[in-house]
Amino acid sequence: MPEPNISEIKDTKKSKGESVTSVPLLDLKRQYASIKKEIDEAIAKVVTHAQFILGPEVKIFEESVASYCKTKFAIGVASGTDALLISLRACGVGPGDEVIIPTFSFFATAGVVHNLGAKPVFVDINPESYNLNPDLIQERITKKTKVIMPVHLFGQTCDMDRILDLAKKYNLKVVEDAAQALGAEYRNKKAGSLGDLGCFSFFPSKNLGGMGDGGMVVTSNPELAEKIKLLRTHGAKQKYYHDIVGYNSRLDTLQAAVLNVKLKCLDTWSKKRQENALVYNKNLNGLEITLPKAESFNYHIYNQYTIAVKTRDELKDFLKQKGIGCEIYYPVPLHLQKCFEYLGYKNGSCPVAEKRALEVISVPVFPELTEKEQNFVISAIKQFYQH
Ligand SMILES: *Cc1c(COP(=O)(O)O)cnc(C)c1O
Repeated sequence: MPEPNISEIKDTKKSKGESVTSVPLLDLKRQYASIKKEIDEAIAKVVTHAQFILGPEVKIFEESVASYCKTKFAIGVASGTDALLISLRACGVGPGDEVIIPTFSFFATAGVVHNLGAKPVFVDINPESYNLNPDLIQERITKKTKVIMPVHLFGQTCDMDRILDLAKKYNLKVVEDAAQALGAEYRNKKAGSLGDLGCFSFFPSKNLGGMGDGGMVVTSNPELAEKIKLLRTHGAKQKYYHDIVGYNSRLDTLQAAVLNVKLKCLDTWSKKRQENALVYNKNLNGLEITLPKAESFNYHIYNQYTIAVKTRDELKDFLKQKGIGCEIYYPVPLHLQKCFEYLGYKNGSCPVAEKRALEVISVPVFPELTEKEQNFVISAIKQFYQH
């Protein structure tokens, strides 16, 4: 399968003398244009063979992701959220148990813990990487703790050696929320392959996005793999014979067909994201901005390019006014969400995340972003600081 030539996209898209008047945060239409033929053919093939549930494309995609992550197994499920939920179930998490998670993440990380009747235990983050601070984990471990669930936020992995050491010491399982980090690496190992189980999301806006919902669990543990397979089809190994109560959570064949095409482009796309991040780092240096920092042990794939600034809301309004797509990931840390009031956290419980939630803003870093567009974003940010 030919990889899309992104430099070609850069030259032909919008930049032919046209001046930039707006920049999207992400443009999936451009991505589709670059691989239209392959995608259309892959979809047509599924429509023709009509094996919509766990068809051959799902198996191929599972094998490709397992091989990409260097794990023994990969199991497609209906979403990243389900990947987390089913992984926790497979680890035996249920009512009364505790799961340690970072307070700065997408809601699903905490939602799945609650939905299993277990208690999310929120831990503060490192201010530079936005990831779970390993120094703060040990004090939150109790007799009820079953799992540590680190989140590799924005596309770089957590300090996994420290987390894995703690898990070993206290006999806990590690479930990686790698929904934003497919292709990221920690000491040359792929995100998702470090803990007991790794979870991915193929939500359209993720760095490997489908054309709808989708998710995946990877593991090298055969018993856990077996359990996850069981859980995704109502707990039945043999149709209509149910050993446990599971879910209906499978990756659609159509999504797998699309993702098979896109997976071949992922490394090229990640490199473009990194290049774009470097250009921002170079040009925004010296302003009153905290730039994203890739830790030395990490291969950061920049699912998001997130900066922290004191006058965030003003910058956001300014960029929006200029037609620049930007987003706040995330405005409220999980421990301060209304639905978790019952857990008793307060303002001040996780001060780093609380501060960052008021400062962060993510700007366009997608692979097809043109040079002109990126310059437009950089100029706008510089202009903001000249006021
Ligand atoms: C996107 C995301 C999820 C959930 O994935 P879905 O496929 O949308 O269910 C979970 N955790 C994190 C950190 C995410 O970014």
